[in-house]
Amino acid sequence: MEIGEVQVPDVIERRALLVRTTAATVCATDVHLWEGLVASKDAGADLPLILGHEMTGQVAGMGEDADRDSLGRALRIGDRIIWTHGFCGQCEQCVVEHQPTLCTNRRGYMQTSATKYPYLTGGFAEYCYVFPTSGRVKVPDTVPDAVASAASCALRTVVHAFDRTGDIEERHAIVIQGCGPLGLFSTAKAAVSPAAQIIVVGGPETRLALAREWGATETIDVEAVPDPADRVGQVLELTSGRGADVVLEMSGVPAAFAEGMAMLRPGGRYTVVGQIHATSLPFNPSLLVMKQARVTGCLSAGVEHYYRGLRFLGQHANRFHWDDMITSTRPLDRVNDAFERMRDWTEIKPALSFAAP
Ligand SMILES: [Zn+2]
Ligand SMILES: [Zn+2]
Repeated sequence: MEIGEVQVPDVIERRALLVRTTAATVCATDVHLWEGLVASKDAGADLPLILGHEMTGQVAGMGEDADRDSLGRALRIGDRIIWTHGFCGQCEQCVVEHQPTLCTNRRGYMQTSATKYPYLTGGFAEYCYVFPTSGRVKVPDTVPDAVASAASCALRTVVHAFDRTGDIEERHAIVIQGCGPLGLFSTAKAAVSPAAQIIVVGGPETRLALAREWGATETIDVEAVPDPADRVGQVLELTSGRGADVVLEMSGVPAAFAEGMAMLRPGGRYTVVGQIHATSLPFNPSLLVMKQARVTGCLSAGVEHYYRGLRFLGQHANRFHWDDMITSTRPLDRVNDAFERMRDWTEIKPALSFAAP
């Protein structure tokens, strides 16, 4: 990534906003894109572009009819917000299926060239353009910038994933694969659910320690137990031979899918969130039949999940020190360092800060 000057749009469309970025956090998706995925045809990206899709900022400019957030609350210059990808609210997926993340007219961030209007469509920039069709919610004063930024991707996705997974009961054992930001937020969500057992599978140990602090009843370190079959064996042992009632795939490691299926008890539910690689793997589909498994995918989130994510942060701020997940803050011009540190696992979630104008 290179630092460069990008034009600030002089026209703000009806319902659109211009936001001055106050914090942006690095998501594993950004790192995968940076490592080369962005150049692949699957990413559908138009280079050169501004990476970053977890960010928060203050409203700096408003189009017509943009003076309310998605919950109808007054929005003024200077208010802090987080916002969704653009979902049209008029297609079958939006209106009939109520699955806006599958919107046929979806307008995504960090997809379009920084040389084309509205130029600023990524988080790692001093300003960002909020599409007319993007949901937007005000950030409560109690939520710090970097944490609000993390809520705008990792946490809202986890809130959505728990919705798609369904009820968690007292008797349930949950396995969470991965202990990056998705896995840690999932641990916190599971910790406030009635679940009897929360088993987090991941690494390194520093992250697992935070997972235990946030409510994991058991952790399995993938470095200490490198063989997937042994990890499956440990989950079976921890669940009296049954396997997990619910498995949440939050690791992004392609091979985690088969492992998660093996950890699932017959009749269990598996929600897959982390997988964005264009990788094919051998898989025996009869496992789905034999286990009568319910496997659900979960992509991004709608505006209600952003809102509920922020509420969750506020409501449980005494139980979880959200700042512990934000492992560093650097100025924008050190964005490449932040990516390096995320890639080599030395950080959970680096944040970028922006000088006040
Ligand atoms: Zn993300
Ligand atoms: Zn739509």
